[in-house]
Amino acid sequence: MDQLSRRSLLALGAAGSVLAAAQAQAASFGNPDAPPQGAINSTPGALSEPGPRSPALQDQLPSFQNPPATDVGNSPLLWSSFNIMPKRVQGGGWARQMTAAEFPASRAVSGVNMRLGPGGIRELHWHLAGEWALMTNGRCRITMLDAEGRAYVEDVGAGDLWFIPPGFPHSLQGLGPDGCEFLIVFDDAFQSEFNTLLVTDWLAHTPPQVLGQNFGVPPEAFARIPLQDLWIFQGKEPGPLAADRAAVASGGTVPEPFTFPLTATKPVKETAAGRIQLADSRTFKVSTTIAAAIETIKPGGLRQMHWHPNADEWQYWIKGRGRMTVFDAGPRAETIDFQAGDVAVVPRSQGHYIQNTGSEEVQVLAIFKTAQYQEVDLSDWLTHAPPELVAQHFNIDPALIARFPDTPLGIQPG
Ligand code: MN
Ligand code: MN
Repeated sequence: MDQLSRRSLLALGAAGSVLAAAQAQAASFGNPDAPPQGAINSTPGALSEPGPRSPALQDQLPSFQNPPATDVGNSPLLWSSFNIMPKRVQGGGWARQMTAAEFPASRAVSGVNMRLGPGGIRELHWHLAGEWALMTNGRCRITMLDAEGRAYVEDVGAGDLWFIPPGFPHSLQGLGPDGCEFLIVFDDAFQSEFNTLLVTDWLAHTPPQVLGQNFGVPPEAFARIPLQDLWIFQGKEPGPLAADRAAVASGGTVPEPFTFPLTATKPVKETAAGRIQLADSRTFKVSTTIAAAIETIKPGGLRQMHWHPNADEWQYWIKGRGRMTVFDAGPRAETIDFQAGDVAVVPRSQGHYIQNTGSEEVQVLAIFKTAQYQEVDLSDWLTHAPPELVAQHFNIDPALIARFPDTPLGIQPG
């Protein structure tokens, strides 16, 4: 597409003659590479889909069915969803997960969506990866022991985080009356929740004589241990937090908390169009491998064009409906639709923006495998480069560039 035709079309569009202009410029609008792409460059006969299809799936991803004409190239699939992952269901709760086996675009982290009913226990266990988590519903009790023998017991609710360093033993239990649901992010793309070191497995695979000698009690004490692991099982609801804390206090107390109230923190950015809250190792000290942002975008709002120089972004859509476009060298541009439960990856340094396309707030959790959150905001950059330099790139009046937003973490109203 030549720049003149695009500019005239934009001018005509602003004047309200979008359709006529689109028809007049159909051959050149949109994808500036040849051949031009997008429905605007096609015909009704060629656009129709006479073949087999699933309306339910297609309706969830309309931008895949009808990409904007500015999309281009062969991006990998950057979308997935917990809604399409099989559950492992047991007494006490369930879990489903997305490792690199289920979602190959995720090269840095894996994700688990778990539910524990009231009293439901995720058994005492440990694993190779560090475990970061966000509570999305209800209340949960966490127990943990650090590498210096200090115990940590805490209750968390919706909006709270926890972080369990690699190899530290821990358990989770749903509290009354509603149990809990949460998202776990492992700092290893291949860590599976279905393949962790389980305390019941170890005892079942240790000779009773050794168990007796190890724990200093008669071997018969272990006559009734389970011979298969429990993983998730229905337990009794625990007593008061203070009682559990008192029971484990003799080892000493940890220097920094392993939980963090993310959604209760003061936003690092708040505008009429939304807010951004952050937790990384500068605030949530123990979370040395995972940085996180919760982005709340009001209807019509736009999370401005930006990228992250130091890590891939792994997204979990908590609520609302929206659309994201990801830009890469090539050029490539892929537009993806989202709703609650969906997951996305934006590879490191690839440009992206998010539009709230629904009628309620969008809330997206963004996860980065890094100690510190970093971003470059396009508008912030262009307003902090010499105006004449920027103006020559876009054939634009420098006075207009001076009106661009000039701070990072931007959200623009609709
Ligand atoms: Mn775990
Ligand atoms: Mn981002």
